Amino acid sequence: MSVVPVEFAGPAPRRPAWFPAAARRLADAPAAEVLAWAVATFGSDLTVASSMQDGVLIDLAVRADPDVEVVFLDTGFHFAETLETARRMEARYGLNLVTLRPVDGVPTYRTHGTEACCDARKVDPLAEHLATRSAWVTGLRRAESSSRAGAATLVWDAARGVVKINPIVGWSDDEVAAYIEANNIIVNPLRDKGFDSIGCAPCTLPGAGRSGRWAGSERLECGLHLVPEGG
Ligand code: SF4
Repeated sequence: MSVVPVEFAGPAPRRPAWFPAAARRLADAPAAEVLAWAVATFGSDLTVASSMQDGVLIDLAVRADPDVEVVFLDTGFHFAETLETARRMEARYGLNLVTLRPVDGVPTYRTHGTEACCDARKVDPLAEHLATRSAWVTGLRRAESSSRAGAATLVWDAARGVVKINPIVGWSDDEVAAYIEANNIIVNPLRDKGFDSIGCAPCTLPGAGRSGRWAGSERLECGLHLVPEGG
């Protein structure tokens, strides 16, 4: 595989000049090529975000770089199955796993509502971590929900001043399932209990796509993927 890294000179508060050309070139590239480019371009300034729903993204990322950093947001409200999946993932891959936890006393969904709870337990800890990195990789896919239908492979995450990389953005549910089957990928056991998308225990019900997330409300996203993008 040919990898063409771009010259990178540390954290970039503005969209780098090379970004548009790289975004065009990688728009429909295979996930392995996108991740190889990301590792070659950003090195240890790269982090991979995982919800521990399944190990597809982690498996692809460690093939590109066995030492790649994987970040997991432990909100304090996860299902036991999700925490166990994180432990299994760490053991199988010898992961360079960074677990981010909220500081004591931050809002909960009970006391301050779901928006403040997600901000304090997901959005803020990730933003703080990304302030020390230059790019992040996510498992976001267009097929997951209407709120993600317009997502691209490479995005300039303007509010955080980092490049956001979505290597499997174009994968269908069937493609994910085929990769899991072919590579014996670890899967959160809740997937077999009807949870297509797995968030925190108090806010997630079984359901297709992201319909089980904050079920009964208009909410589809926790805020991690709602940051304005631009140059
Ligand atoms: S998903 Fe629910 S419990 Fe988890 S951080 Fe958001 S509001 Fe809090």
